[in-house]
Amino acid sequence: MSTAEISAKNVGMVYRDRKGQEITALQDVSFDIEKGEFISLLGPSGCGKTTLLRIIADLLAPTSGEISIGGETPAQARKKLKYGMVFQSPVLYDWRTVRENVRLPLQIMHLSRAEQESRISEMLELVGLTSFANHYPKQLSGGMQQRVGIARALAIQPDILLMDEPFSALDEFTKEKLHNDLLHIWRKTNKTIVFVTHSIAEAVYLSDRVFVLSPHPGRLTAIEPITLTRPRTDSMRNSEQFFELVGRIRNDFEGGSI
Ligand code: ADP
Ligand code: MG
Repeated sequence: MSTAEISAKNVGMVYRDRKGQEITALQDVSFDIEKGEFISLLGPSGCGKTTLLRIIADLLAPTSGEISIGGETPAQARKKLKYGMVFQSPVLYDWRTVRENVRLPLQIMHLSRAEQESRISEMLELVGLTSFANHYPKQLSGGMQQRVGIARALAIQPDILLMDEPFSALDEFTKEKLHNDLLHIWRKTNKTIVFVTHSIAEAVYLSDRVFVLSPHPGRLTAIEPITLTRPRTDSMRNSEQFFELVGRIRNDFEGGSI
C-alpha cells in the first residue's frame, strides 16, 4: 500500500439524481500527495472538486476506486481527527465570541479547560486574531471571519487541512493578504493542504502542485508542478515565471474538453 499522505487509486463517483439518472462526477482519478505538500484542485464549477474533497474527508464514499490516508482508510483517519475542514462560508455561531467559536471542537473532544485555553490562544495567535478573541463574528470583516474558521479547523491539530474555495467570497485585496497568511500558517504547522479553487492565479501562487480537473465527467487531466521559489511574495504575482505558469495551466484547459 502507498505510504503517501493521501493516495487515490482509480477513484470514481456516480451520483443518481431524483429521477434515478446517473451523473458521473468523477472518473478514474489517481494521485499521490506527500506529507506537507500544498496541493490545489483546480477546475471550473461542476468538475467534481467538492466531491473529491468530500471523498478524501470520508464524508462521501466513492462508487469505485480507493482512497488511502497514510495507509489507512478515510474512515480510520477521520476517527483519529486527521482532517480539518474550511469552507467558503466559515459557518460561525453568531452568539459565540471568536474564542468560543474556536473552543467548540475542543469541547466536543472533551479536552480539559486548561488544554482548551492553551490551544485557543495558540490558534488565535497563529491567525493573528489574539486581540479579537472577545469579539462576535458580526463585528469582524469577512477575511477575519474566515481566519476564525481556519483557527477552528486547526485547533484539533489535524494532519491534513481540506479547504473548499475558502477565499472565493472575499475581495481581491483581502484574498491576497490571506494567501500570505495561509502560507505562513502552513510553513509553521507543517500541514498537508488540499485547497479547492477555480482561480488559476490563486492555485499557482499557493501550491507546490496544481491538479487540473476537467468536467463532464470530472477527470484529473494534468498535474502541474509550480516551480516558483518559497517563500512566495506578492511581487511574484507580476513575474514572468508566474504568467508563464498561469498560461500553461490555461492551455491545459483549452487543450481539453472545456
Ligand atoms: P465542483 O465542486 O467542482 O463545482 P461538485 O463536486 O460539487 O463540483 O459536483 C460535480 C458534479 O456532480 C456536478 O455535475 C454536480 O451537479 C453533481 N453533484 C454533486 N453533488 C451531487 C448530489 N448530491 N447528487 C447528484 N449530483 C451531484
Ligand atoms: Mg464545489
